[in-house]
Amino acid sequence: MSSWLHFKHADRNDTGDEVRLTPDTTYVRIDAHQHFWRYDPHEYGWIDDSMAALRRDFLPADAQREMTHAGFDACVAVQARQTLEETRWLLALADAHPFIAGVVGWVDLQAPDARGQIEQYAAHPKLVGIRHIVQSEPDDRFLLRPEFGRGLALLGEFGLAYDLLVYRRHLPVATELAGRFAGQRFVLDHLAKPDVRGGEIRAWSADVRELAARPNVWCKLSGLVTEADWAAWTPEQLRPYLDVAFECFGPDRLMIGSDWPVCTVASDYARTVAAVTEYLADRPAHERDAVLGGNAQRFWKLDGDLGRGRPSGRPATGRSEDRLLQ
Ligand SMILES: [Zn+2]
Repeated sequence: MSSWLHFKHADRNDTGDEVRLTPDTTYVRIDAHQHFWRYDPHEYGWIDDSMAALRRDFLPADAQREMTHAGFDACVAVQARQTLEETRWLLALADAHPFIAGVVGWVDLQAPDARGQIEQYAAHPKLVGIRHIVQSEPDDRFLLRPEFGRGLALLGEFGLAYDLLVYRRHLPVATELAGRFAGQRFVLDHLAKPDVRGGEIRAWSADVRELAARPNVWCKLSGLVTEADWAAWTPEQLRPYLDVAFECFGPDRLMIGSDWPVCTVASDYARTVAAVTEYLADRPAHERDAVLGGNAQRFWKLDGDLGRGRPSGRPATGRSEDRLLQ
């Protein structure tokens, strides 16, 4: 933890001495991927017996305690069910808790009234993206279905990004999708969940490299601990996957995410984010600032102040022209 706080408030000059930075050169730290829920066994069927620790409520006060301890200022809350009610609830949480800087919600993009569903929530300044739980769809080519594409085509008009939640086997399809929708901003969740436990990297890296060749696709450095051996993972086991992510996406399209509370099946918040922040220790300060917050802010066009009184990147209400451009 000490090194994390060190990144936040100080840097080293050429001779290796620690130098204090002025407040203007500290950057907002954003956790690009968190979930909140009131646990209900009927609505969270994916939480099986092996994930018993997740069978309770996870609410903003819990998250904020963990984040403050680890030096994070703000987060993006991501949907975990597929209901409009959850989207509404996450936006209400974001209204009540300024540290929730953005919400990636769900609407039924395949529905004939997809436009109406998007319009219902898009006026809310904190709705920044949409996600569908594509990894659970029986059709491996779900992303290329015409009905889904019709809904996806609407997002740009509303300034919304799209989160890709897929496994490795879906990566070629995701790459084709990103090519078809070249003006749409996409972000890959959890690096498409490589098999860290089994140590497979060759096939995954080839597929992720193809996706990263699309300049409109960004990537979250999140979810790796959940794909590793929950009881015995080490930061060293994650490094080769982080290396590939940096090689193919570069430091300007990567963003750290905890995937809290899902990460708690394998780790705790502090250890989860430290696996990435420690990895970044060798990289230049401007790259660390980008991956630890700046990129998330740019990608989702999050308000600059994020509850800390900073100048705003876009109006707090309404929609800037910039946000409409894709
Ligand atoms: Zn997640």
